[in-house]
Amino acid sequence: MREDISTKQKAVDFLRENGLQPSIHRVSILQYLMKEKIHPTADDLYRALAPDIPTLSKATVYNTLKHLSAKDIVKAISIEGNELRYEYNRGNHIHFKCRKCGRVIDITDSEIFIKEKSIKGNLIQHQEINLQGICSRCLENGE
Ligand SMILES: [Zn+2]
Ligand SMILES: [Zn+2]
Repeated sequence: MREDISTKQKAVDFLRENGLQPSIHRVSILQYLMKEKIHPTADDLYRALAPDIPTLSKATVYNTLKHLSAKDIVKAISIEGNELRYEYNRGNHIHFKCRKCGRVIDITDSEIFIKEKSIKGNLIQHQEINLQGICSRCLENGE
């Protein structure tokens, strides 16, 4: 429970620091993304949060994600096709999508990312590496 309160407080502080009013919808969505590293789609978020927040609509989820992405608090990632997934911005990391079970795994390996601040005179602000294959769990299960 203690962790829950601190994540909630962190979400509230983050929103305030970025000039966003910490509405219940924004706080819940951000808190969820901070806690769950599952890269949900907007629909996944709606399904997960709606039972606890009766005032939440799909439109609210989309609008909130748009606001949070604009402030760089949340990142929209397209790992495959045109399906947008969302995550709390934790800095550069690799996404590995399993073609068998569909899960998306975060891999933190700073070695792979470019250390320079710019490349050929172009300022780097964001690096994204997306990999696909069979995850270790599926390989172990021999699927
Ligand atoms: Zn898998
Ligand atoms: Zn991620």
